[in-house]
Amino acid sequence: MKVTRIAYSTVLNPGKYAALAEQAHRLGRVRSEVWQRYGSIAGVGAGLRDRQVRDRWLADGMHVPFGVLANAWKETVRDATADIAANLEAAKVQVRRAISRRTDDPAERKRMFTALKADRWAEDPFLARQMRKHWKRGRNRTHDQIVVRADAYNAVVDGRGRLWLAVPGLRRRQMVRIPLSTTVAPSGTLRLILRGGRVEVHYQIDASRMRSSQRPCGQRTLGVDKGYTEVLTDSDGGHHGTSLGRLLTSESDRLKEGNRRRAKLRSIANTAALRGDHAKAHRIRSHNLGAVKRDRQAARHRARVRTEIFTAVHRIVDKAAAVVAEDLTKRFAGRKTLGKNVNRRLAAWTKGVTAEALANVSERRGSALVHVNAAYTSQACHRCGRLCRRSGDRLHCTSCGVVWQADVNAAINILHRAGDPDIALHTPCHEVKQILQDRTDRHRTRLPVQDSSPATAGRRANYPNRSAMSNE
Ligand SMILES: [Zn+2]
Repeated sequence: MKVTRIAYSTVLNPGKYAALAEQAHRLGRVRSEVWQRYGSIAGVGAGLRDRQVRDRWLADGMHVPFGVLANAWKETVRDATADIAANLEAAKVQVRRAISRRTDDPAERKRMFTALKADRWAEDPFLARQMRKHWKRGRNRTHDQIVVRADAYNAVVDGRGRLWLAVPGLRRRQMVRIPLSTTVAPSGTLRLILRGGRVEVHYQIDASRMRSSQRPCGQRTLGVDKGYTEVLTDSDGGHHGTSLGRLLTSESDRLKEGNRRRAKLRSIANTAALRGDHAKAHRIRSHNLGAVKRDRQAARHRARVRTEIFTAVHRIVDKAAAVVAEDLTKRFAGRKTLGKNVNRRLAAWTKGVTAEALANVSERRGSALVHVNAAYTSQACHRCGRLCRRSGDRLHCTSCGVVWQADVNAAINILHRAGDPDIALHTPCHEVKQILQDRTDRHRTRLPVQDSSPATAGRRANYPNRSAMSNE
């Protein structure tokens, strides 16, 4: 498995930045050209490879007007062709579904799947029609990137321990030296992204080379429940990533306040422009409404949250050989857009990162990730199965007479779902509810109410209610 790493430039001289930005801009034209010429059914769709594009360009001098070095445009052609191919693959997923809907005949299905895979779909009228329907012609939007081949750059540490990355500029044998904020030299193919006066160096490393991948996983099976104030709660009652709530709240407040101020400034600028004071309007737009600082702060926040989430997942894998969790990649909100609601946007994004961290860390450290149906796990009492009312982070079970901590209760339920004979991953919600209700009914006819049993008291001591602590 590959993992993307990012190194950042430290204080970079504006002349160097401008030179790199110019190169990226010219390469953006190369990308646009590739998309325009080969981004359709007749180009990459017909199985055209980047090497063939390069040979054609070399033969008829297509590359000359771009004014960039050979390696730079060749790598860019390769990158853009790969983008187009990815775009094409996404369309094929839809077409495969259409094939399954169209026919039940295995031989016919196989014939169409094979034709699709080998890019020979133009010969079949149905496939050609489907491809035209699902493959929306894209265009290039990337004008700030430079792809550098592994043998075209070098990284040197200077006398003061600073790492300098030298990449090709616009002229032969004129390297641009970029000081980096890290001491680990990037490796493999680099993607330089120029943003707000800073260079981001993206590169991939093999996950097995990461130190955290060498850490062995635990031996137990744990259920986990995703929270808002913390990243995850496990079925042992452990809370992991408890700073998440604070991080999200402060970011949400900052965004709301920032948006309010920007709206005000924008209206001042608009009024000035109406009055004819274009100088003032321009001054406000360029000095106060720029995106550089805002984007940088947002990136810093994202990095902090990611660290919090990945650390939390590592803590859980420290204990577990198998982690049972809800499939967090599933989108319950459907296609409804989240609009301007800052809190919901942040929550949706964190959910995605948590899913990524669970999959990524499990794979790297060799633990299993088991997805289960999480319907009603936050409402059912884990001991008797009765559906109860949740208030805040407490769950009061009237038949057991116990107050559980809601997150811990949910995590235990999730753990139990892994071995549940009746509730499968795709059992619909209403059926899950029916199953749970049937079980408690059966339960009640057999067992007496157990408020005062010693077992209950023991559980209560194990999972004390912590609402007073987590509400601050
Ligand atoms: Zn109960």
